[in-house]
Amino acid sequence: MKLFIPKETVDGETRVAMTPGSTRKLVSLGVEVIVESGLGAKAGYADKDYSEAGASIASDSVSVSRESDFVARVNKPDGGEVGKLAKGCLHISFLDPFNEKELIEQLAGAGISAASLEMIPRTTLAQKMDALSSQANLAGYQAVILAAERFDRILPMMMTPAGTISPAKFFIIGVGVAGLQAIATAKRLGARVEAFDTRPVVEEQVKSLGAKFVKVDLGETGQTDQGYAKELTPEQMEKQREAMAKACAMADVVITTAKLFGRPAPRIVTKEILDQMSAGSIVVDLAAETGGNVEGVQVNDEVVTKNGVRIIGHASLEGMVPRHASQMLAANVTAFIEHFWDKKSKALNLDLEDEIMQGCLITHDGAVIHERFQDKD
Ligand code: NAD
Repeated sequence: MKLFIPKETVDGETRVAMTPGSTRKLVSLGVEVIVESGLGAKAGYADKDYSEAGASIASDSVSVSRESDFVARVNKPDGGEVGKLAKGCLHISFLDPFNEKELIEQLAGAGISAASLEMIPRTTLAQKMDALSSQANLAGYQAVILAAERFDRILPMMMTPAGTISPAKFFIIGVGVAGLQAIATAKRLGARVEAFDTRPVVEEQVKSLGAKFVKVDLGETGQTDQGYAKELTPEQMEKQREAMAKACAMADVVITTAKLFGRPAPRIVTKEILDQMSAGSIVVDLAAETGGNVEGVQVNDEVVTKNGVRIIGHASLEGMVPRHASQMLAANVTAFIEHFWDKKSKALNLDLEDEIMQGCLITHDGAVIHERFQDKD
């Protein structure tokens, strides 16, 4: 069966969904891997690396696309690209299904089986395929590195004959995968770290990394059966902001990662909170693309407030480390293919009864089959 990896067409994308290492693994399973020429240029992989791993290199993406059984890429296809896919083909990528109703209908209409990487269940069995986690982990790390680079001070405490330097104070809001990695990275660099999340189960994880959990009594909060945070009521949000204001005012660096799955991110750090922060402080907002946790944040830009606080809203911090981001993403995609690969017939078995497939397959056989995205009117 033919797997095609086209070049990414989204502006600024540096990552790819396949690496030479993962190609080798798929080829050994019996998959015929074809990559578009120049695929890995921004991630540090040359065509030669892919061909040495057993892939063929294609320069005519249209005809290869038309005869491929499955296609894997990082980003959702645009309308024109959907038209180039073969009917019945399995398309694996991030799809942003909550915001892409039209695209989903188009994929269904074209008879494509579209698997959405963000919908892969957060279960132990699917951990190897969890692209949200692999990318968030790197984004959390990179947020700290970026803040450290922009900061006009160092992070660790230093006792020197020239005097003592106190450690930088970090405050992390939202402690999922990215937040945990941000805490661990800031601690490793010697910062003093505090953190907050609305899910009470997180407190133990924060403490185990040597950081302090900021306690706020918000009443009932909890999480969904998939482990995602539930949306707070307006009263709870107000209470949270009051508590965050104190912690932000004390912090040199604030990193926000608070997200609500499938919905806009909660607005937590308001202008009033920013006004209380000191000049030179840094705020990195990892939720910028889904609306932002921070008032005034700009996607892929840096804004400096009147009182000198720098707000950074990079949409894809993991894209700043494309080699590792691609390595992890390709491993996720490969684990997904391997899970559904029938070794005997050397073919993909699109098992619709499988809970991972049920979780992430959005369109199939000419219809939108995922309940969450079906038109109910
Ligand atoms: P996410 O990106 O959806 O959100 C990031 C964090 O923001 C979450 O911890 C969430 O609780 C928090 N948040 C939401 N609203 C907030 C607010 N108002 N204030 C402060 N924080 C707020 O989360 P994620 O990193 O994708 O993780 C989601 C869940 O999935 C977690 O429970 C995580 O442990 C779980 N998970 C499980 C597995 C697995 O079992 N295989 C793998 C990865 C993640």
